[in-house]
Amino acid sequence: MRGVSKERFIENFERKVMETVRRYKLLSKRQRIVVALSGGKDSSVLLHVLNKFGYDIEALHVYMGGTYFETLRTCARRLCRKENVNLREIDMKRALGISHSDMVKLIKKGNLKLNPCYACGVLRRYLINTAAREMNADRVAVGHNLDDEAETIIMNVMKGDVELCLNLGPKTGITESGMFAQRVKPLYFCTNKETEAYARFLKLPVARERCPYLTESFRLSVREFLHRLEKINPEVKRVVVENFLAMLPRLRKKFYKGEKIGTCSVCGGASRGEVCRACKILEMFRVRRVSSSRNHL
Ligand code: SF4
Ligand code: ZN
Repeated sequence: MRGVSKERFIENFERKVMETVRRYKLLSKRQRIVVALSGGKDSSVLLHVLNKFGYDIEALHVYMGGTYFETLRTCARRLCRKENVNLREIDMKRALGISHSDMVKLIKKGNLKLNPCYACGVLRRYLINTAAREMNADRVAVGHNLDDEAETIIMNVMKGDVELCLNLGPKTGITESGMFAQRVKPLYFCTNKETEAYARFLKLPVARERCPYLTESFRLSVREFLHRLEKINPEVKRVVVENFLAMLPRLRKKFYKGEKIGTCSVCGGASRGEVCRACKILEMFRVRRVSSSRNHL
């Protein structure tokens, strides 16, 4: 970024995003694209770039309840007004009967063996996939950048979860399924710093606050670990992602069992197992809520 004019930086950034889209065949102008818009910088930048380059986009925002998520929702609304993009909002409490803070309380009070970030991610993805299906979307575009992907690769390797690794890359998932729109990551090769600078230069209305639960997440520890490595090798995140991409075809060949996406026996949504991960989590909360309300009787 240093020594490059603002105009040149913006041009280079947009070229990089469009190159990723072309090289990995992420999107086409004929597709209906839903942008999963959190209100943070990454998805806001993504929405702006796709809108600027004439893609057929609609925004989808999941409101999870509470002050932090309220700020995100305000930014998402502002951006969509500014960009003249249709915004669909989902209220987690209304859709699932539980807000983010209810969820955290139940996990803590019930001593549930559940990480709040894991539950948050699964339920948010579930709501996005369900709504994107209703919106007849061909693709769901998400704002994951290079830093996010490097962190996710390291996290999956540390958990020893090969299956989750197989699903990574600029296009999520191994198979295209009629059950849900494929998730794509056009900012895959853009760093966090670049995305931040782009949002700042374009004066996009984005939330700067951090989620209060981030401090409890495994992701934050991996992020700090990568920051320390970056002091030794400033390109470490790019190296992790590029080496992983080079290995991915061989990993898929060796470990992918050709399993089909089936239907969840509880909600009827897409699932690898008999019951999807979202329904399993909701069942834990339901059981907990029933037993805690019984305790009050
Ligand atoms: Fe959810 Fe906050 Fe964790 Fe992000 S940091 S996954 S918003 S709980
Ligand atoms: Zn389900």
